[in-house]
Amino acid sequence: MQFEITANPAALDDKAREEAMANPAFGRVFTDHMVTIRWTAEKGWHDARVGARQPFQLDPAAAVLHYAQEIFEGLKAYRAGEDGITLFRPERNARRFNQSAHRMAMPEMPEELFIQACEELVKIDRKWVPGGDGSLYLRPFMFANEVFLGVKPAAEFIFCVIACPVGAYFKGGAKPVSVWVSDEYSRAGPGGTGAAKCGGNYAASLLAQAEAIEHGCDQVVFLDTKENRWVEELGGMNLFFVFDDGSMITPPLGGTILPGITRDSIIELARAQGRAVEERPYSIDDWRADAQSGRLREAFACGTAAVIVAVGEIRSTKGDFTIGGSQTGPVTAALRDELVAIQRNQQPGPAGWVHEIAL
Ligand SMILES: *Cc1c(COP(=O)(O)O)cnc(C)c1O
Repeated sequence: MQFEITANPAALDDKAREEAMANPAFGRVFTDHMVTIRWTAEKGWHDARVGARQPFQLDPAAAVLHYAQEIFEGLKAYRAGEDGITLFRPERNARRFNQSAHRMAMPEMPEELFIQACEELVKIDRKWVPGGDGSLYLRPFMFANEVFLGVKPAAEFIFCVIACPVGAYFKGGAKPVSVWVSDEYSRAGPGGTGAAKCGGNYAASLLAQAEAIEHGCDQVVFLDTKENRWVEELGGMNLFFVFDDGSMITPPLGGTILPGITRDSIIELARAQGRAVEERPYSIDDWRADAQSGRLREAFACGTAAVIVAVGEIRSTKGDFTIGGSQTGPVTAALRDELVAIQRNQQPGPAGWVHEIAL
C-alpha cells in the first residue's frame, strides 16, 4: 500500500532527541511520528499515512470508549552493525495481531501491510533507535472509532503504530522479580479472550497487579479459573520452570494464555540445546514443593519488553517461598544471553528470525 508521508515540522533536533533518549523510562518518551491506516466496512483498509505523532480526535460515542474493541502488539527494532536496523520475527506479530482481531470481531490486515507500517515508522524515526542495550519499542494497535452506542462489531477502525526508545525494562537490569499469586482474581477463562492481545485483558489484570504491589511484589501470577490451581502466566509475561535434570516446563497454550513470541523462541532455542521442554500444566502446589525440595532450580518470565527475567520469590496467602536462592540461575542467564545476541544480530539464530529493514 502507498503511504502518504508528511515529516513532522516540529520534530526534535539532534540535541533535544539525544537528551530525551538519554535515560528513557519505559513507555514515557515517544518518537516524532506515527503511522495511521483506516478501515471501514465500505472501503476496507485505506488512507495509510506517516505523519507527526499527535492526539486523535474521537467522538465521545466512539465504540472503543464504551465496549473496548481494541487490540495491540509489541515488538522491537534493533541497531545492527553500522547503520542497519532489524526487527525480530515481525511476521509472528502480524499473524498474532490478526488472531487477536479475529477474536475481537475486528478486521484482519494483510501481514505485509502490518510489517510495512512498522517499517515505515522505523524508517522515518530511525535516529530514535538507540544503540547499546537499548531498542526502539514499536506499539501497533487498532481500535473501533465508529460513532455508535449499539452493541455490535464496529464498522470503522483506526490502526496506528507509535514507538518509544527503551533501555532495560526492569530497573537494575536482570534482577530477579518477586511475584504474588492471585487467588482472588483471574485473568482469563476458557472461551474468553486470554489468547488475544487486547487492552481489556490488561484492564482486568490491574487490580491483581495493584494487590501484588501492596504485598511487596513486582508482578502478579494468575492461576486457571476452573480449579485455581494451574499456573498460567504473569499479567504480561509467560513463565518457564527449569528442573535439576535440565528439563523445562511451560504452561500450554489452551486459549487462556497469550502465545508469546519470546516463549515460542525460547522453546526452540532450549530444544536446540538438547533440553526436554514440555508444554504442560504445572500446579502452584508442585511449584512450591519442587522449589522446596530443590528439584526446581530456576523459574523465569519472558516477553518482548523484558526479554527474560528470573522469578526469585513467590508470595501468596498460603505462604512464601524462593527459587534458586533468589538469584538468576545459569540456564535463565544463558537463554537470555543467547536470545538477546540473536535479536541484536550478534549471533546467528534460526533462519528467518531476524528481519532486516531496507533503509
Ligand atoms: C504480550 C504478552 C506476552 C508476551 O508476548 P511476547 O510476544 O513474547 O512479547 C505474554 N503475556 C501477555 C498477557 C502478553 O500480553
